[in-house]
Amino acid sequence: VKNLQKHFPITNPLGKVTGHVKAVNNVTFDLYEKETLGLVGESGCGKSTTGRTILRLTEPTSGTALYKGKDIFKLKEKAFMPVRKEMQMIFQDPHSSLNPKKRIGYSIEEPMKIQGIGTKAERMEKAMDLLNKVGLRRDQYYRYPHEFSGGQRQRIGLARALAVTPKVIICDEPVSALDVSIQSQVINLLQELQEEFEQAYLFIAHDLSVVRHISDRIGVMYLGSIVELAPTDELFKNPMHPYTRALLSAIPIANPHRKKERIVIKGDVPSPTNLPTGCVFHTRCPYAMDRCKSEAPSITQGANGHQVACHLHN
Ligand code: SF4
Ligand code: MG
Repeated sequence: VKNLQKHFPITNPLGKVTGHVKAVNNVTFDLYEKETLGLVGESGCGKSTTGRTILRLTEPTSGTALYKGKDIFKLKEKAFMPVRKEMQMIFQDPHSSLNPKKRIGYSIEEPMKIQGIGTKAERMEKAMDLLNKVGLRRDQYYRYPHEFSGGQRQRIGLARALAVTPKVIICDEPVSALDVSIQSQVINLLQELQEEFEQAYLFIAHDLSVVRHISDRIGVMYLGSIVELAPTDELFKNPMHPYTRALLSAIPIANPHRKKERIVIKGDVPSPTNLPTGCVFHTRCPYAMDRCKSEAPSITQGANGHQVACHLHN
């Protein structure tokens, strides 16, 4: 994904465009086969929009997304269909993919049906198998979404996503609505299923400690931009961007005797309709210098696969 932008027009009651919400402004990253890339940031930073844009649930304003050499943003509907099959999404609230009036077996089979995969009997068999894989029972195929807990519904959402054996699953805050104990069960399940089916995950969350457990690499987003991206251990050992350091300093650590840098960022996130000039973080950064107000830092490629956009490291 390169230079992705998604700006939503704001219109007045007469339909005139009066401005834009710059939800995604500068997003560039690679997602490798079988890896998990965490995308973390506060709500409204553009991480969900990034995920949705890649699947073209919303069309990008500009940028490219190469998948097996093809720019998926340029594909016509018909050519996009087979790509769409290889990329699925799971949501924070699986309600959006489970039809409350249909038995869950129906919802799991639906993507196969849309893609014309298998006979009715084969699809049913596969749906039951998948129920088993996600830790439910085959006979629960006949039940309705309201008969399941939030954690179970997330498992069903996952079975549905896996039905077409995707290469990529975009997970948009899949555990944020669940109790902490259930969160780790679902994350473990995601990891087990990745070992078996070898799909890559783009794992979106607002909580660094959640993405830490599942991600090979983590990208940190702030106000529509990825400000830092690094392998997980590297990011935690050597956070370079002041915003990442502030996020990390907010996570409690196990050993209270260990000295911990505490960075408190002041103020609110500026409005995405009126982005700061220069570095998007300069209005809140404790290290901001004069040049930060006028000059946007470019991404620097450092050692250990570490990328950061900050003048302190330029
Ligand atoms: Fe802070 Fe300047 Fe770095 Fe932005 S570029 S994070 S304002 S030091
Ligand atoms: Mg979101």
